[in-house]
Amino acid sequence: MERKPQFTQTGVRHATINGHRFHLRLTDPTEENFLWIDGKSPPLVLDQVAAEFLGYVIDAMWSMQQGAGDETENVRDYVVEQMYKKYGRPLAIGKARVTRTRIRSDLDRIFGTLMAVADGTCPIEEGLAMEEIRQDEWAAPARMDLAVTYRCNLDCPHCYNGGPKNMKELSLDKWLKIYEVLWNEGISQVVFTGGEPLMRSDILQLVSEAEESQHPTSDQGHWVLDPS
Ligand code: SF4
Repeated sequence: MERKPQFTQTGVRHATINGHRFHLRLTDPTEENFLWIDGKSPPLVLDQVAAEFLGYVIDAMWSMQQGAGDETENVRDYVVEQMYKKYGRPLAIGKARVTRTRIRSDLDRIFGTLMAVADGTCPIEEGLAMEEIRQDEWAAPARMDLAVTYRCNLDCPHCYNGGPKNMKELSLDKWLKIYEVLWNEGISQVVFTGGEPLMRSDILQLVSEAEESQHPTSDQGHWVLDPS
C-alpha cells in the first residue's frame, strides 16, 4: 500500500506498531505532545525527548512498512542515527558526547514503556501522565464526528436527528478533502455518525481511506461495521 505523501510529515504522525495504532501530535511550544494509542482518551503526554524518539520511530515505520519481513533493526538504526545527529555532541563545554549506545538504550526504554501501555499496563504505573481534554487550551480537537448521512433504516421515536433524513450528502471526494484538512489540523480520530453510516454504499471506502490517516470508529450500534 502506497502512503499518501500529504499524510507523512504534517499534522499528526501515525503508524501501526505491533498491532497498535499510534497517533502522535507533535505540537508548537504552546502545547504538549500528545499520544493516542488505539484511539484511547485521554491521550498520553510525552516530554520533548520521548516525543522526538517516537516521531522518528513513526517516520521510519512509514517509510519501511512497505517492505516485507521484520524491519525492527532498521527502524532502531534509523532512530538512533537521527537522534545522534541531533544530540551526539557535547551538551556543554567539558561534557561527554551522547553516545549511540546511550541513545539506543533510551530508545529501548521509551519504546518498551509505550508498548507495555499499548498492551494494557496502566500508564501511571509506567510513569506516564495523561491529559484530560481541555478544549480551551488545545490547538485542535482530538476527534471529529462525521455525519456522513442522515438516512437511517430505523425510525426511533426518540431520534436525535431532528431534520429530514433525506438531506443532501457530501460526495466521497469531498470527504477525502475533509480528511486532509483534519489531518493537517492534527485531528487523529474520526467517528462516523449520522443517521446510519452503513446506509452509504461507499462507506467501506470512506472507512478505508480514513484508515490511511485517522483512527476511524462508529458511534452507531445497530449495524456492525467490519471493513476487513
Ligand atoms: S439515527 Fe439513530 S436514533 Fe435516529 S432513527 Fe436512526 S438509529 Fe434511531
